[in-house]
Amino acid sequence: MQDTHLSMMSTQAGQRYEELGRISEVMKSAVSLWFFRFPEPVEQAFIRRRVEDSQMIIRVGRLYLLVIVGLLFLKNILMHQDLLSANHYQLIKTAYVPLGLAVCGIIVGHRIPFINRHLYAFMIIFGALAVYAITISAFLIHQPLFAGMVAIYVAVTISLVTFGLRIVIYHYAPLMLLTGGLAVLTALLNHWPLSPMLFLHYYVLFSFVMLALAAITERRERKAFLQGLMLDIQTDRLQTLNEQLAKLAQHDGLTGLYNRRAFDTFLEREWDHALRDRKTLSVLFLDVDFFKLYNDALGHSAGDLCLQKIAQALSKALHRSIDIVARYGGEEFVILLPGTDAAGAEEISRRIMESIRSTAIPHPQSTVATSVTLSIGISTRVPQPSGVAGSLVREADMALYQAKNQGRNRFVCFRD
Ligand code: GH3
Ligand code: MG
Ligand code: MG
Repeated sequence: MQDTHLSMMSTQAGQRYEELGRISEVMKSAVSLWFFRFPEPVEQAFIRRRVEDSQMIIRVGRLYLLVIVGLLFLKNILMHQDLLSANHYQLIKTAYVPLGLAVCGIIVGHRIPFINRHLYAFMIIFGALAVYAITISAFLIHQPLFAGMVAIYVAVTISLVTFGLRIVIYHYAPLMLLTGGLAVLTALLNHWPLSPMLFLHYYVLFSFVMLALAAITERRERKAFLQGLMLDIQTDRLQTLNEQLAKLAQHDGLTGLYNRRAFDTFLEREWDHALRDRKTLSVLFLDVDFFKLYNDALGHSAGDLCLQKIAQALSKALHRSIDIVARYGGEEFVILLPGTDAAGAEEISRRIMESIRSTAIPHPQSTVATSVTLSIGISTRVPQPSGVAGSLVREADMALYQAKNQGRNRFVCFRD
């Protein structure tokens, strides 16, 4: 049982290694490639991180944004009635409504489940809508002073969208191109007088500068993301190694059973539990009969194989997960049976001997049977505060000695 558990564990660890190895390869190629897109699925993880960042920025900045947008609306309505009146309706329809929608979407969009599921795509849409709306509003203002102000609004909106929504550069660059183009097209279709010089400055120049800054920032972020990922992989790898080492330190290499060190730890722990709960604790000490003769007759590697088969037979004979079987050394095994009294320990000893008998490993030199047999010493007690855990093993060993003396292939219970 422990044997298969061990091999399963190493298979799992192997798979994890493979996975980590693959990611490491991806990482290496990402560094050498052009740096604005990681291979999948790393890219998706990066975009998810950016969306989280943007949500955090929005959470922190939403109140400021609402106040600023609210004040600007209020200022326009209160102070610039005369300037707006000529195309007020158009301005509301083509600029303020989409701008309001974009701001609402950016601030509360994530509360709508559908939008939340596709948050990144919707942030692109809301960002584009905001930039488009504010650019349109700039086309509709013709009074020079006011046009200057609106140009600044365009610049501010582009900055906020660039650094607030965290859209990656290969989406952001076409978005800015498309939005600008659409705004110009809208103006042309509506026969609004355009000032190409002004547009070139506040839209084209500004968005190019922003794009460059965003590209530099993104490159840095990608580098940091990559380093973080590498660190995660290293940590994971170390953790896996530690787990494997811990398991190796507890197990016997030949049989896959727990080793003596692990058994001693379990024994101490179970002794303490039994002491606290006033429960019985049993230890079986098992030794293969005439094993030296077996080795002499069939060779050491046949002996090793025999020990492995015995280990399997022992594991098979124990049905409770809290029972612990360990290889104590050489051809000696120990079994710890928490909450088991003498009658139970005898019953299990019988079952073990039956299990070994049915495994039927031929032993040409044994004088007690034709196949390999075991002798078992049993020690049972309710731990006392004055006692020590090790005494159980010592007594079981003494009982084993008696079993050997009485002719082997049997179990003997220790008696004071
Ligand atoms: P008894 O019935 O009195 O226990 O006799 P025995 O021959 O089993 O006992 P003894 O202690 O004289 O011999 C134990 C033998 O077990 C000696 C050693 O060669 C063998 N042995 C110990 N560890 C291993 C192992 O890992 N592989 C193999 N093949 N043999 C081992
Ligand atoms: Mg021995
Ligand atoms: Mg022996």
